[in-house]
Amino acid sequence: MEPLNPWFGKAAILGIIAAIAIIRAPFGRQSRKIAIAENHRGPRETLVLALAWLGSMIIPLLWVFSPLFAIADYPLNPVVFLAGVLVAASGLWLFRQSHVELGKNWSISLDLREGHQLVTSGLYRHVRHPMYTSIFLYALGQALVVPNWIAGPANLAAFLVLFAVRVQSEEQMMADKFGDQYRNYLAKTKRLIPGIW
Ligand code: SAH
Repeated sequence: MEPLNPWFGKAAILGIIAAIAIIRAPFGRQSRKIAIAENHRGPRETLVLALAWLGSMIIPLLWVFSPLFAIADYPLNPVVFLAGVLVAASGLWLFRQSHVELGKNWSISLDLREGHQLVTSGLYRHVRHPMYTSIFLYALGQALVVPNWIAGPANLAAFLVLFAVRVQSEEQMMADKFGDQYRNYLAKTKRLIPGIW
């Protein structure tokens, strides 16, 4: 099969980056209006936020608009590209849906808001971290649509670090805040994949 023109990959990753920004914008505006009651951000949070920023935006944009990573380019297989578009689209849908369901309780980092409510319905009835599942999916989509060994997997690598560093502190923070309500919820749900893990 003939490889696709790399501009397919460039258009796709620009679309993914724009979609993430457009989906998140109204929730970012909303969350700025609600006071943070407890801030659990430490130096590790600064690190994972910086890595996420690099992997999801800065490195892919440098790949699109500069020759910086050209040495790591490879031919774009049309089947891999199509699979990547589908995986990324499902991740973006899940990203929006988890934002809608988390509503005013969302923060970009480890914060508890004024009047924080524990969400246990919708997607959150099945998994505790559907937004992290969504980030995994669109990061995997990025790895498939961007035919470059650095810019492709950059977001997946950033996500793995974020998840490894954050998930235990987040669950501990929620257990400290919501007590048995969270421990019961924890016993009934999986982390990322419904019924499996
Ligand atoms: N881990 C979740 C949420 C990511 S946003 C997911 O992947 O879907 C991170 C913030 O969401 C945390 O700082 C915490 O304040 C909040 N949060 C996480 N789980 C929550 C829940 N079940 N109900 C309400 N808020 C939650």
